[in-house]
Amino acid sequence: MRVSKEPLIEPAAIATKIKEIAGRIASEYNSNPLTYVAIMGGAFVFLSDLIREVGLNARVDFLWLSSYEDVQSTGRVRVIRDLGSSPAGRNVLLVDDILDTGRTLAFARELLINKGAADVKVAVLLEKNIPKYADIKADYVGFSIENKFVVGYGLDYNENYRHLSGIYVLEE
Ligand code: 5GP
Ligand code: MG
Repeated sequence: MRVSKEPLIEPAAIATKIKEIAGRIASEYNSNPLTYVAIMGGAFVFLSDLIREVGLNARVDFLWLSSYEDVQSTGRVRVIRDLGSSPAGRNVLLVDDILDTGRTLAFARELLINKGAADVKVAVLLEKNIPKYADIKADYVGFSIENKFVVGYGLDYNENYRHLSGIYVLEE
């Protein structure tokens, strides 16, 4: 396995897109205290750029979930490490790297609602152009991509390639 020579999405395009999404988030949560919950590990790079572009004071929490082994979704989502504090009564913006089948975000949304979150919205950098398993729609989407396995900008392949500044396609 190796990554494509050219990025599928250049760092500059990511930056421009995040500014755009951040503007919308900033106006929505301007007078509405916000808690970001990042799905780990893939979301940390997106989260760190997003919170600085949004520019609002906000809580940040992390939820470690896993469904992928290798390049295949196992179809089961597991909590590896739970939230640091209760989301009860909070307006949560779930942040993830990529919306694929939707299982992970549907699971996370359910978990937050069960723990009493007042409102749950979803922001993803990437969305794969495939039918969704669950009734889940992202409120903020960076890019729609084809159904290929991508890495970089926080996304990994067996813990490799998270450091790349752009998004790349994994190739045989
Ligand atoms: P879903 O539950 O929506 O099928 O999958 C979402 C999770 O699977 C994402 O949070 C991400 O961690 C992982 N995932 C899905 N597609 C890709 C991909 O193309 N590349 C990488 N690196 N991870 C992916
Ligand atoms: Mg993930």
